[in-house]
Amino acid sequence: VLIMLLQILSSSIFLPLVVASMIIAQIHLENYQTDIKKTHHKKYLSNFYIVFIYLAQEICIIELTLHNINAIAFTFVIPITMILRNRNKLWWGLLAITPTIIVIMNIYLKRYQFVTFTWGTNLLRLVLTAALCFILLHWNKPPYYIKYTIALYANFFIHVLVLILEHHLEFDFVIFILLGNCFIILTENSRHHYEVKQQEEIIKLHYESIRDDLTGLLNYRAFDQDMRNLAREKDSTPVLLTILDIDHFKKVNDTYGHLNGNVVLCAFSRKLESEVHHNFDSNCAVYRFGGEEFTIVVKDDSYAKVIKLLNNLNEYFASHPVKTPDDQQIYFSFSGGLTRHLEDETFNQTLARADNLVYQAKNSGRKQILFD
Ligand code: GH3
Ligand code: MG
Ligand code: MG
Repeated sequence: VLIMLLQILSSSIFLPLVVASMIIAQIHLENYQTDIKKTHHKKYLSNFYIVFIYLAQEICIIELTLHNINAIAFTFVIPITMILRNRNKLWWGLLAITPTIIVIMNIYLKRYQFVTFTWGTNLLRLVLTAALCFILLHWNKPPYYIKYTIALYANFFIHVLVLILEHHLEFDFVIFILLGNCFIILTENSRHHYEVKQQEEIIKLHYESIRDDLTGLLNYRAFDQDMRNLAREKDSTPVLLTILDIDHFKKVNDTYGHLNGNVVLCAFSRKLESEVHHNFDSNCAVYRFGGEEFTIVVKDDSYAKVIKLLNNLNEYFASHPVKTPDDQQIYFSFSGGLTRHLEDETFNQTLARADNLVYQAKNSGRKQILFD
């Protein structure tokens, strides 16, 4: 009874824990390799590490399960997990060679001679397991934890089928593996849940890092990154850059209060962004540089289109005042400078030219867009 109890504990907790740790190790290795690949192009080397560690893991699993529960179990868990995570195609190949690892250890190393091995049933197992992974990968509806549960239990039934065909099925083995799979599924699902949460957090933080808190427009950091990327692209797409500055905004603040000033900035941002995107689809971006200064970048060479859009906007705000929460109406206008990015200059030089045009627009009466 004690030995039976130890075997159940071993198969349902200790061995699954080892397998779960191996899965986590592989996931970390893959993430690490993906990071490395971004800087160095050592794809083959990184695949080599993954295969090498996987082979070592499989040999450990085979040895451990044989010693502890007198059977080979859990050998397919790692490739199935990695395939469902859907990153590296390498895992399909590793899934395919997994039965062969057992054969090689059995035949050539004469390791476990009491394990009989049949090519036919193992080929059947391989085809069924691959079909199972393929179907689950392309079946988009269910969440990961359902897919994973189906995958491991279906794989378990394939295993049982193979054992029946080989006349090797033992009742306690079925119980051991059923329990062990439960443990692995619980561990992997909670790990996956945590990973998804973490990725969502990273996406949210990235979103926040390139957005302006008040208006939700892209901020100066986003501008800086985008211009670096544009400069790197080096294609001949024309780029027009406009700086806008709201006229007498200090007076708006002084007259209506800082909070109402914020309401104006938000209303202006929303309208500006929607009009620019309406005219230039995705070939444009609107940034708030800080204060009441904005920058528009469009991948287009039509000065006329940009100027018409901005003049219309000035007319719009002249007849549609921004309404504040305390029922006041604020009229305002803005001035701007529009210029083209030249091929052999930096974006800072383009910005300086646009800035100079804004300065001239301010000095010659405001509420106008100047260009060169
Ligand atoms: P000009 O027509 O020459 O541009 O005059 P201006 O008053 O708009 O220019 P100035 O640079 O003198 O003043 C800008 C003002 O914008 C001063 C500052 O209080 C205000 N401001 C900057 N950031 C914010 C903000 O986030 N919210 C509000 N409400 N006001 C801001
Ligand atoms: Mg200003
Ligand atoms: Mg101003």
